[in-house]
Amino acid sequence: MMERQVRVIAVDGPSGAGKSSTSRRVGEATGFLHVDSGALYRIMTLKCVEGGVDVSDPAAVAAAAARTEIESRREGGRIAFLVDGEEPGDRIRTPAINASASRVSAVREVREKITSILRSLAEYGDIIVEGRDITTAVFPDTPARFFLTASPEARAARRQKEEADKGISTQSREEVKASLLERDRIDSTRKCAPLRKADGVVEIDSTGMTLDEVVAAVLAALPPEWRAGARGAK
Ligand code: C5P
Repeated sequence: MMERQVRVIAVDGPSGAGKSSTSRRVGEATGFLHVDSGALYRIMTLKCVEGGVDVSDPAAVAAAAARTEIESRREGGRIAFLVDGEEPGDRIRTPAINASASRVSAVREVREKITSILRSLAEYGDIIVEGRDITTAVFPDTPARFFLTASPEARAARRQKEEADKGISTQSREEVKASLLERDRIDSTRKCAPLRKADGVVEIDSTGMTLDEVVAAVLAALPPEWRAGARGAK
C-alpha cells in the first residue's frame, strides 16, 4: 500500500499578526490539524521562569530545556501540548512569559528540541503550523507557505483586546505594543532561525482586513487539491 505524503501548511509572521485565528479557521475549513508552535516555546519559558532559571544565561536555559518533557495529543481539530501531564492554558500567556519567551527561544538547543517535536507531528496527518521559522527552517519545502503581517498598531490593538478579554493582563495598548515590538526585534535579529520573510512565500498584510478575508486569501492560495471540499473556499 502506498503511503500518502503528509501535507503541511506553514504560517509565519510577527506577534499579533493574526496567525492563530487564521490558522485555526483554515484548519477547520481544510481538515488540517492546527499546531501553535509558539505554545512550545512558551512552555519552555514557563519551565524556566517557574524554575528560577536566568533566561539571559543560554547554558542554563539549554539545561532546563533538556529536562523538560513535552507530550502531544490530538484534541479535536488541534494538537495539544502537555507538560507535567497537563495543558498549561493561560499560564503561558501572561506578560511575564511574553517578556522572556524571545530570549528562551533564541537558545539553539531549545530550537533544536522544538523543531524535532514539530517535525514528528506529521504522524498525526495533515497539519497547519504557525510560528516564526516554520516557512524558513522547520518545513521550508512545503508548497503552502504564508507570511502574515499587520501594522504594529493593528497588532497591538488585537493583542490588548485578547489579553483583556481573557482577563490575563491589564496592560495599556502602548505597553502591549512595546512588548510585542521588543519580541519582534529579538526574534528577527537572533542568530538561530530568525523571523524573516522567505523567498516565495505568500505575504498577506491583514491590516484593515477582516478575519474572513484573510482566511479566504489563504484558502485561495493553497494548491487546489488541498482545498477540495474546504468550507469558505472560492
Ligand atoms: O506565537 P507566540 O507569540 O505565542 O510565540 C511566542 C514566542 O515564541 C515568540 O515571540 C518567539 O520568540 C517564539 N517562537 C519562535 N519560533 C516559533 C514560534 C514562536 O521563536 N516557531
